[in-house]
This record gives sequence, structure tokens and C-alpha cells, in this order.
Amino acid sequence: MKLRKLSVLLCVALGCTLAVHAQKVAIHPTPVQCEISETKWVPLNNVVIASSDKNAQEWAARHLKQWYGKEAPKVVELQQSTEAMGDEEYELKADESGIRIKAKSLQGVRYALYTLRQAAIPQRGTLKVEGWMVPECTIKDRPGLTFRGIHICWFHETEVWEVERLIRMAAYYKLNYAVVEPWGTFRSKVAPWYGWPDGTMTQREIKRLKRIADDLGITLIPQINVFGHATASRGGAGKHSTLEFNPKYQPLFEPLNGWNWCLSNPETRKVLTRLIAELHEAFGNPPYFHIGGDEAMPPSCPQCTDRPYSDLFLEHIKAMNDVIVARGARTMMWHDMLLQRGDERWQGFYANGSPETAEGFRQFPRNIIICDWFYDEAKKDYPTLDYFKQLGFPVLTCPWHNWNGTIAQGRHAHKSGINGILGTLWHHHFGNNLINIFFTLANAAWNADSPFRLTEGSVQTHLRQIGWDMKTKNPRHTGTFYDEIPPEPFLNN
Ligand SMILES: [Zn+2]
Repeated sequence: MKLRKLSVLLCVALGCTLAVHAQKVAIHPTPVQCEISETKWVPLNNVVIASSDKNAQEWAARHLKQWYGKEAPKVVELQQSTEAMGDEEYELKADESGIRIKAKSLQGVRYALYTLRQAAIPQRGTLKVEGWMVPECTIKDRPGLTFRGIHICWFHETEVWEVERLIRMAAYYKLNYAVVEPWGTFRSKVAPWYGWPDGTMTQREIKRLKRIADDLGITLIPQINVFGHATASRGGAGKHSTLEFNPKYQPLFEPLNGWNWCLSNPETRKVLTRLIAELHEAFGNPPYFHIGGDEAMPPSCPQCTDRPYSDLFLEHIKAMNDVIVARGARTMMWHDMLLQRGDERWQGFYANGSPETAEGFRQFPRNIIICDWFYDEAKKDYPTLDYFKQLGFPVLTCPWHNWNGTIAQGRHAHKSGINGILGTLWHHHFGNNLINIFFTLANAAWNADSPFRLTEGSVQTHLRQIGWDMKTKNPRHTGTFYDEIPPEPFLNN
């Protein structure tokens, strides 16, 4: 504490700059190159933007208006070449001469403005907001990984505003993809019996969320589990979102709890093909489709056990991949069934496969993106990630809420040429883990060498800004918990 006070005093005296991890300004993810003053602030009156993207000025003006209302800074166009810059790169400079942004693409301009918004505060000394100011800064920033995603679950009890807030938060923290997995909540027209009858993931909501996501610079990716998890309801809940109310469709699922799809039934593939097409189209035909594939059980029906399951598994995944490729997209799949349980090479990592699934996997088309999930503490090496990469597959590392683990996985991805990161939330749409996940994921994806210092209150401030954008009126829809006194199991979570 003494040292900090001393450094601040010295800086005040010398008018010098501090690194961004100083406590007064918190920008998440931490920019790659950043000098930011703790003592010199300049008014946010005009934002001068140089960009090759013709939509950048309009986007900037519209969003600054939304964020700052009548105190919004004016956007001024600057003719300057940005061709040499990377697609998501930006430069931001704030000093006495004004605020200047340089970015080749609209995405770069978005990121510069997200940074600016996190750095700006209202002018002091008035009752109400009368203007804004930003610290003097020079920032040059670009992402470390090209694929930066988050996986969002849409459970039966998930409310639509939660999904919207998570998507907005992901974009604000400079992630560029969000996988959205319906847990029996997608209201299919081609198979209306699939999932819960009162699911809230309607075509209309998908389109609304996609419009928001597109505007904010994040691509939504749909998911349907085509192997295990066919209940589309959490295992511990003991429910089956299709069979509870539609028992006549039992032949599509394996007899034991209906957990797996019945891979030998030709009707299964027909249904899944139609569902994939419907969901992919509803999401605007994005470049990826996630087919799940994790935590399947051994087959239990006479026909699936009659053939080598490795053949059936391979045939099924290839067929699903063909459907997705024919639609101009690429398949994403969880990794754990592709590694044999008990294989010593994967000790300490997640391997749920049987000899059959591990064998079938070796002949998978190499265009399938393997999403390798690992939720534990940091490890020195990540043999499963390297294994998939060596076999020629694109690979994403998929952390959860373990702080050190997420950082280590991000650093390994940077160092070892892993294709990207896909963070998972599962049921942590709230709580302190929501903060851990967004903060560590954003930094691991963008700037894995950042100091990873979380300024207290910073993520809450950013969630509040998103609440303003969403025009939230319900007190329960604010902050990190629905209620000030959360339910018992959440207290320590
Ligand atoms: Zn079967």
C-alpha cells in the first residue's frame, strides 16, 4: 500500500504515465500496448476516426449517441490509410488535441470504442452528467487469438434477457463468437415435438438476438447435440425434454434414459438433418455449427449393439458433418468421447470415450473443429490439445471458471498454435464465477500475457453499462445475482 501511494505521489509530481493495470482505470481485456495517465484527463468532445470501412462512422455515431445521449461526442471522419493494419487491430490516442481512433475494419473501430467506453468517466462536480472525460492514453491493440468464443446454455428456466446480457458482455470483452446451446428450449417447426413445449428460444428471439450480436460484432453459432445429451436437459435433473411429453418418439433414442440418440435408426439422422438445417438457417447460416458430442453412454438397443459401435459412430458423425459442410459451415464438436477412458496419456484430463469411439474418431474428416474442454487448475502441459493438433484437426481450448486454468490454457494456445479459445459458462449465468469467467476468458483470448489483475468493481461497472444499453428496469436483472441474498447453494459459489 505504501509503495502504491508513493508511486501515485511520484506520478502526480512528475506527470508521468502508469501501466494500464493501475487501479483507477480498468480495461478488459488489457490492451497489448497501453500507456495511460492517472493524472491527466481530457474532455470527450470529438472522436476523430480513420477507417477503411464505410460503415465505421455511422456505427460509431449511433453507439456514442446510445451510450452518452445528448452529451455524446461528435464523430469526425479522417482520411488516412489503414490498409496495413490487421482486421481486428486498432489504435486509440487521447490527448489535449482530442480523441483519435485508427482501425482498418468496423470491428477494429468497435474495439477502440469499447476500450474508450471503459476508460471514460463523467466530468466531476455536477449533480447530473454534463459531459465526459478520458485519461490521456496511447493504445495499440490487437487480439492474440483469432477465434475467441463463449458457450452459452439456454436452459428451460433461462430468461431471454440473460442470454442477451451474456451476448452483449461477450462482445464488450472483445470475444467474436458465442455458441448458443438450447437445452430443449428451441421451438422447432420441422419437429415441434422436439424439446419442451414452452421453450423460449423462438425463431423471433433468435432473430432479435442475432441482430444485436451482428451489430455488436459477435457471431452466434447454434448447437444441437447429435450423440449423447439427447435429453437436452441437465443429467442431474433426470428429465428428457422430448420424451416426458412425447413418448411415441422413443425409438429415436437409446432405451437407457434416452440419453443417446439411437445411431442405427435411419429416422434419427433424418430428424437431426432437418433440425440442423432449421437451426442453422434461423441463426443466419453462420460459418460454424456445434454438434455437442460429449459425455455419451455406451449403446443399449439391440441394433446399435449388433454392429461395431466405432463404425456406427464414425458413420453418424460423418453424415452430420456432411450436412453442415453442404450448408457452407464447419462442424464443431466436444472432445471427450474421442479419447479412450483409462488411456495413460490422458491422465489428469477428460477422456470419456470407449475403445470404439476413440477408434472411430481417428477416421474423422480433418475439417471438424475439436473443442477440448478442461476445467481444472493450470497444468504445465496440455497433451490432449497437442494430440488433436498433431492429428491435423483445428482445436479450441475450452476452459470454465478456474482462474489459473483459464490463464494457462490461453497461454498454451498462444504458444502452441492452438486455433482459439471457447470459454464455457454452463449454469454460471450469475454469481462470482460469472466475473471470473468473463475476466479471465477475455484476457486469455486477447492478451494472454496481460498481468491478469482484476480491479474490484470493474466487471460490475461493465455489466451495469450493458444494463443501460438493454434499458433494464427490473432490479433483479442487474448486478451479478438476481437477489441481494442469493439462494443457499450460490452463497459460496
Ligand atoms: Zn440404438
